[in-house]
Amino acid sequence: MFESTGILGSIIKNNQGFAMDDSFELYDLKVEVVASDRPFVCSHREGDCFYVQGENLVFPEGSSFSMYALSAILPLLPAKQRNTDPNDWMTTDAYIACPDPNCGARVRIIRTGKRTVSHSETTVVPLEADDGTEEQI
Ligand SMILES: [Zn+2]
Repeated sequence: MFESTGILGSIIKNNQGFAMDDSFELYDLKVEVVASDRPFVCSHREGDCFYVQGENLVFPEGSSFSMYALSAILPLLPAKQRNTDPNDWMTTDAYIACPDPNCGARVRIIRTGKRTVSHSETTVVPLEADDGTEEQI
């Protein structure tokens, strides 16, 4: 069982009462509509965007974003928030096509910065919990 000390929200005490840092980093993201060599079919507007900050999607006032394009992008966002191997395609690839095969819109996912997040502020599962991996026997 972990107990938060309330200091910065990221210093916790483990079972033995030792203070430990439970923080980790996530990238903030900007997701924006960009043009390609084909016209848009959907209501995309070049430059429309939203931001990913922790678990939140933040939309600038007055902006809109196609729910169909959003559905194609959503599964990738948690991966783009995390550190990835330099050789991983998730590190290098930033453009996602609109799921309408006739639409020329692309969406670019840009890592804009990093934020520090506290494990204890994002879950009730303790750090020492079973991570779900199978034990090698
Ligand atoms: Zn489209």
